[in-house]
Formats: sequence, structure tokens, C-alpha cells
Amino acid sequence: MNGTGHPTQPPNLRRNVRADGICILTFDRPNSSANIFDRHTLTELREQIILIAADPQIKALVLTSAKPSIFIAGADLSSMKENASETEMREFIELGQDAMNQIAGLSIPTVAAIHGAAVGGGYEICLACDYRVASTDRSTKIGLPETQIGLLPAWGGSTRLPRLIGLLKALDIILAGKTLASKQALKCGMVDDLAPVEYLIENAVKLLRRGKPTQRKSHFVNNAIIASVIRSRVRSKVLKKTRGHYPAVTSALEVVTRGISKTVPESLALERDKILELLKTPACHNLIRIFFLQERAKKRVVQATVAKPKPVSRAAVIGAGVMGAGIAQWLSARQVQVILRDINAEQVAKGLASISKIYADGAKRHVFTPVEARKGMDRIYPAPVRVPLNRAEVVIEAAVEKLDLKKKIFSELDQLVGDDTILATNTSALPVSELAETTRRPERVVGLHFFNPVHRMQLVEIVAARQTSPEVLQRALSFVQQIGKLPVIVKDSPGFLVNRILMPYLIEAGHLFEAGARIEDLDESMLDFGMPMGPMRLLDEVGIDVALHVAQTLAAHYTDRMAISESLTKMSKNGLLGRKVGKGFYVHPKGKEPRTNPDAVEYLKSNSQYASRATLQERMVLLMVNEAARCLEEQIVTEAADVDFAMIMGTGFAPFRGGPLRYADALGISEAVDSMKKFADAGAPYFAPCALLRSMVADGKKFYEK
Ligand code: NAD
Repeated sequence: MNGTGHPTQPPNLRRNVRADGICILTFDRPNSSANIFDRHTLTELREQIILIAADPQIKALVLTSAKPSIFIAGADLSSMKENASETEMREFIELGQDAMNQIAGLSIPTVAAIHGAAVGGGYEICLACDYRVASTDRSTKIGLPETQIGLLPAWGGSTRLPRLIGLLKALDIILAGKTLASKQALKCGMVDDLAPVEYLIENAVKLLRRGKPTQRKSHFVNNAIIASVIRSRVRSKVLKKTRGHYPAVTSALEVVTRGISKTVPESLALERDKILELLKTPACHNLIRIFFLQERAKKRVVQATVAKPKPVSRAAVIGAGVMGAGIAQWLSARQVQVILRDINAEQVAKGLASISKIYADGAKRHVFTPVEARKGMDRIYPAPVRVPLNRAEVVIEAAVEKLDLKKKIFSELDQLVGDDTILATNTSALPVSELAETTRRPERVVGLHFFNPVHRMQLVEIVAARQTSPEVLQRALSFVQQIGKLPVIVKDSPGFLVNRILMPYLIEAGHLFEAGARIEDLDESMLDFGMPMGPMRLLDEVGIDVALHVAQTLAAHYTDRMAISESLTKMSKNGLLGRKVGKGFYVHPKGKEPRTNPDAVEYLKSNSQYASRATLQERMVLLMVNEAARCLEEQIVTEAADVDFAMIMGTGFAPFRGGPLRYADALGISEAVDSMKKFADAGAPYFAPCALLRSMVADGKKFYEK
């Protein structure tokens, strides 16, 4: 039996009453680096608060955490999976609300001493306290990210935040699901004070000396009339942005703006009712699933039997262009020393300038302090001439996408690196196994395919060449996890996974454009589907020449289905390369929104086959579904979840739909196959459904059991 009356489970909370009557209640989940709110912890919290309320010795309460980088990471999402019953969920929500209410109802002054992540429920408990002080440490992050997983703050966050910082600022945080660094949190009033972590409790105690606050802050905008005006204005903006695909955002808007003129219990009831509705939506299930897939990627191992390798501290990047510079910056910001090599001083200098810009922008957005940015820059060693690379544990080649050139670089690197060095390539589509053949160490060659821009895109495809050893694959996997990226291991095959699925979509967009579809219709149809950007705009952003190059590599292998549209080839030849030159499918005036390029009509073949937006969307999406299924059929990855995860993280594929294969399940495999056949029969044979999809129809199977 423990102090909480639970016979089996170890306690999550420690209560310590100091001689001055201040009670320090410390969250410390056993055998875990994180504190979370599951049923057990909430029950224990409630019991502790009852004991504290009844103890006349206790004069004030400090809530804190014993974890090195997490205060409380929020609700235990595994209790919110789709199989939970409504009654269970209602009880869980009410249990949390009740625990927070009990803290808010204490007659003694209370303070949250926040060090590390205080997000979701982890910040809602802070809102239930009278005061909040946060550590200045980089690990301290404060916010309410619930809408990002299809939910809303329902343990008092939607009710208490607008009362604390005002309706407008609260909506800004809640609707976007923002998490802020402690300095920004102080600026917007989410915390009352900051302190270095060593002085956190001391500062918390100082705040307690102010006593129980007698008056609530008043905010001019917090009234029913203004709230209703804000609601209708923000609602139309939200709908325009989300196209109705993210019901959590509109629900949060409703709850916050209606709850503000109600009593706290009434507003909490609104929170509860809306979250129970949201928990039933497919969008919420899909978004929670992505959260778990991210967690899985962070912890994956190649084989349990392969030993966990040491962290990498020295690396080299070959090629200081867009990707090489991006990779070098990312590594240097994560404490890795990087040699940055290019063919001459001018190219290296260009690379360094773009790295310096990424650091400067990061410092502006408080991602780095100026000192961290300078230290990061100092970890990069420019190499305009050949230098020994024997101390580098990983070398990443990011030179131009030409097989012959890469082969030459790999055979040279083979002479320069140490026996144990991993040789990696960032190629977008070229065969890694062929590069491995040019070295004396083929088992140490692997693909590490970062996405552009490196500092924003979390996914890295780890390409296992035919020869890559399990030990090297594990080292590559651990390295990607070490630098905070999300890995997916893929088999070596043209375009790997993400580009292979994306390319048929972009190529089809080119064909449809050529056949007369308007640029706006192509882009709008896919924005309606939920993509973050339409295909024509994406082609402009990537660079029409770059996309064409990858498409050509794929077309050479998949001759039956990836014939490139003439328009893309001609535009590339004529220098219409997209944003980098100011013109492509769009004109990109500096500092202004792009507009469609009227000159692009020259590249139409006809405008006779004009199709509706719905048809355009159907065609482009089905080609992704078909190719995604083929990747599974060929075991490029072994699980449908890997395909979906990689497409969402690598291309922004409509996250609320859960990925192309999850989408196929929702659509119905047999409906998808019928539509593919319809297009194939109508003159586009490349729509022919793959064998896996056909067999799934025959067997009545889906990609996911539930
Ligand atoms: P880039 O043209 O911007 O940069 C290539 C750099 O390599 C140049 O600075 C060039 O001087 C240098 N280089 C050429 N030969 C070299 C050699 N022998 N030794 C050292 N450096 C040499 O190209 P990028 O867009 O950065 O692409 C680099 C690689 O990354 C390619 O394989 C590309 O397919 C891949 N990739 C690109 C993107 C993207 O969106 N740009 C995304 C993912 C992967």
C-alpha cells in the first residue's frame, strides 16, 4: 500500500512540507523521463490536494517536477485512442477538470514552478494555480497544442487562459496550438516571472508571499458582445485556412468565445462536451495516430540484438549547396563538429553565408540565443580543398545529383575516411547500392535523404543499400534520432519512398496543365483535399529543373507510368524554373504573394480536356495511392503506417486524412480501384491499379485493421 491508497501502483507525486509551512508537491513518474496525466496520476493528485486542503500546517503550495526537461507533458494520449468508450472518456475529462478545480479552489496561495515542457494538461494545471514562474532553460516550453491533435484544451485551458491573458491572445495560442519559449510566455502573460532553474523554487516562494490574489485581471475584450464579433470574424478566417478539415479549431473558437461570458463551471461543461464530440472524429483519430508514429520513430531500433552505438560528435558534409549547407547547419546546432567541403572557396563561402542566415533567422525567432548561434557557426570547419576526413564518424555527400559525379566522389572519399566512417549520400533518387560499389567498404554506405528545407522538415529517409550492414543501419538510425530528426528506413530503389509517391502526382499535374487545366484549379483542388500547397506552386518552390531531374530518374525505371509532360521539359529549358528565378507557373514578385504566370499558357497543348476540380483532385490523389500501394507491395517499407507517416512528414500529405493508404481505406479500396480502372480505360493506362490493390479487393482487405 502506498500513501495514496493504491495498493499496486507506485506514486507519481511526492509531498514535502517545509518548516515554513510551504508544501512542495513534486511530480515524478516512476521509471520515466516524462510526467504525464493518466487516470492514476490524476486520482493521486486529487487525493493529495484533499490532504493539503485539510492540513492546517500548510500555508502555501508549490507544484513542481523532478524531471530534467519535462514539467508535465500533458494527458496520456493512449487513454484517448479510438477504442475508448464515450463513458470512459467523459470520466477521464471530468477527472482532470475536477483535479484542476480542486487546485483552483484551495484557500492557500499556489504557484507552478515550471521547468521543462508544460504543455496541454501540463499547462492547464499551471493555469489552475494563482501564480506561474518558469525557468529560463531552453527545455522550458509552455503552451496548449491540443488543436494540433484534433482536440481542444478541456481541463480548464479554454476557460482559464482567456481569463488570464485576454480573449484575443488566448485565441492566438489555442487555435494555432502554440507552444512558446519561457521568455515569450512571460511576454504574453502566460507566466508571471522567469528564473534560472537553480532559483526556480526560491522565486516561486517569492511569488507566494504576495498571498492569495484578491482580484482577477480585467480584460476589455472579455465580454459577450465583443466575443461574438470576434467569433464570426475569426471563424471565417479559420474556415478559409482549414477548408473545414480541422473541426477542433472551430470547436475551440466556439468554446473560448462562448465560455468567456459564462461561469467557470458552465465554460468547463462546454469544454467537456466539445472534446467528447471531437474525440469521435476521424481527423482526431488520424492526428493522434501521427503523434504515436512520431514517438515510434524516435525510439525505433533496427534489431534488438544490434548494440546501441555511441553518439556522433564529428561529421563531414560534401557539397555546400542548398542541402549541404542545411545539413551542416542542423548538425552544428546539435553539437556535432562539421567539416564543410566544396570544390572551391567561393562555393564554401556561399554555404557558410546561408548557414549564417539560418542561425540569424533562428535567433530572431528565439530558437537560438546569439551565443548558441555563434557557437554553432564555430563548429563548422570550411574546407575549400581536400582535407583528411579520417576523424569524421559520418560523411554525408550532398553534391549535385549526377550519378557519375557521385561515384567519383565516393571513390575519392573511400581514400580519405577512417575505416569505421559511415559514408552517406543525400541523393534524392539515385541508386545507393551503385555508389556503394565504388568503395572498398560497401557495407558502410547508406542513404541519408534529408528534405528541403532541412531546418523545417523533420523526416529523414534512411536508405538501406543492398550491401549496408545491420550495424551501419543501426548507427545511421541512431544518428538521425540523435540529431532530432524522424527516421524511416527504406529499401534502395529509384526515388526511395517519398519522392517515388510524390512524383506521379507532380507529373500528372503537369499533364493536366498541358491538357488545359488552369493552374489555380490544379492548386485549389489539392488545397481543398488538405495539402499544404498545390502541386504547381510546389513545383515552383522545389524548382522545375530539380523536380524534372528526379522525375527523369524515375521515368527511366518506371517506363509504364511516369512519362514526363512536355510542358515541364520546355519550361525548364526556357529558364522558367520557379521561385528561384522569379518565374515558373507563377510570377514571384519580391516580398509579394505570387500570382499565376500568364506566359505559362504558351506551354499548353490544348484546352479541350478541361476537367472539374473534383476530377483533377481524384486523378492526382489516386496516382499517389496507387504508387504508395506499390511501395508496400515491393517492400520498400514493410508497414502501411511507414508509408503514411513518411508522406505526412515528408510532403505534408493532408495530416487529418492519415496518409495515402489510410485515405484509401476511408475511400474504400474497391472504390479506389474502380476509379483507377475508369481513368485507365479512358486513355490513361498508367492509372492501372497495382496487383496489391487488386488482390485486396478480391480478398476484401484493408490496409489497416482499425
Ligand atoms: P546544389 O546545386 O545547391 O549544391 C550542390 C553543391 O555541390 C554545389 O555547391 C557544388 O559546388 C557542390 N559540388 C559539386 N561537385 C562537388 C564535388 N566534387 N565535391 C564537393 N562539392 C561538390 O544542390 P542541392 O539542391 O543542395 O542538392 C544536393 C543533393 O541533395 C543532390 O543529390 C540532390 O538530389 C539532393 N537533394 C536535394 C533536395 C532539394 O530540394 N534541393 C532535397 C533532397 C535531396
